[in-house]
Amino acid sequence: MSNKVIYLDNAATTRVRREVVDAMLPYFTEEYGNASAVYSLAGGAKEALQKSRDTMAGILGCDSREIYFTGCGSESDNWALKAAAEAYRAKGNHIITTKIEHHAILHTCQWLEKQGVEVTYLDVDESGRMRLDELRAAIRPSTILISVMFANNEIGTIEPIREIGAIAKEQGILFHTDAVQAFGQIPIDVEELHIDMLSASAHKLNGPKGVGLLYIRQGVKIRSFLHGGAQERKRRAGTENIPGIVGFAKAAEIAAATMQERMERETKLRDYLINRVLSEIPYTRLNGSRTKRLPGNANFSFQFVEGESMLILLDMAGICGSSGSACTSGSLDPSHVLLAIGLPHEIAHGSLRLTLGHETTQEEIDVTVDRLKEIIVKLRDMSPLYEDFKKGGRERGGKKNVQ
Ligand code: PLP
Repeated sequence: MSNKVIYLDNAATTRVRREVVDAMLPYFTEEYGNASAVYSLAGGAKEALQKSRDTMAGILGCDSREIYFTGCGSESDNWALKAAAEAYRAKGNHIITTKIEHHAILHTCQWLEKQGVEVTYLDVDESGRMRLDELRAAIRPSTILISVMFANNEIGTIEPIREIGAIAKEQGILFHTDAVQAFGQIPIDVEELHIDMLSASAHKLNGPKGVGLLYIRQGVKIRSFLHGGAQERKRRAGTENIPGIVGFAKAAEIAAATMQERMERETKLRDYLINRVLSEIPYTRLNGSRTKRLPGNANFSFQFVEGESMLILLDMAGICGSSGSACTSGSLDPSHVLLAIGLPHEIAHGSLRLTLGHETTQEEIDVTVDRLKEIIVKLRDMSPLYEDFKKGGRERGGKKNVQ
């Protein structure tokens, strides 16, 4: 094996595909016109914008007029929630979401609460799945929006989106899903799943950073988020990021064309990783659902180990992983997702997320597990808790392995 970095943090961001870069390049230097201009130099940009919108609509199963390009997934989430709360104020002021959403949703909800909006944060079960009976029970006459993520960014759990969509439709409530982790990884058809709004982001599917989209079903009353020019049918002002949008559409097109094969390959590799870790490293648990899980996601908790130390030692071995979501690493608080699935603080602290991509190989997984085994032994040898545990007899505390 070479000194090449082993990149297992594809949920944080991904390497842009060469074909995507190639598709983007002409829009920096040749087709650089402003898509809103009338002269023919801008024609290429205008055409590329429409083509990209058509590509996205084809993939999501909607009309191209329902696709709005944004600056990132966080912007799409902010827009969906804030603008729906404003536009539907006369109908009600209650939003339902879950405790395991990304901070782009949770912090937006907290901001909305300060503006007088009431928010219910639903619990999840021990695998991270929302319970449909709790959703039904939380619905009030004033409920205007249900926002539940398609798949969780930390533990990879896929939520019961079809069922949530059906409940929302039956009750006449808007349904938004943050599909930033799911889009491009698993099939999504907004019509079939009764989704009214959906957020996605290019950099999670081997596209460029700084471009996202919000799908808004026709008929949904939603206000502009950025005020200014008439771009994006007057709903999102700002000169369009044509190279970024073209790159996003190219990445999505490749993701859709290769999805079946990637899903099979990554699921197999992921299960190989999970099985090796659980069978070779004692006092370890798998977080999230064994089956309702994104193909590329594995998330473990190792007892008697501190996550940050594990990441540093992995980094020294040339392996990139994560102990929480990209946005929360840097904070020492345990992840809100791991706490929500019922992990005690000390176990949540010893967690590691490894996320695979289309370039990940079995050899890389083998090297990672081999290094990880050594690192865990080393850290446990330094841990007073592990020392106590060994002295006090194993029967008192740790469970050998939990899935
Ligand atoms: N939602 C989820 C589930 C995510 O995983 C992320 C990024 O990690 C975001 C939203 C934010 O997306 P972006 O980085 O494009 O703002």
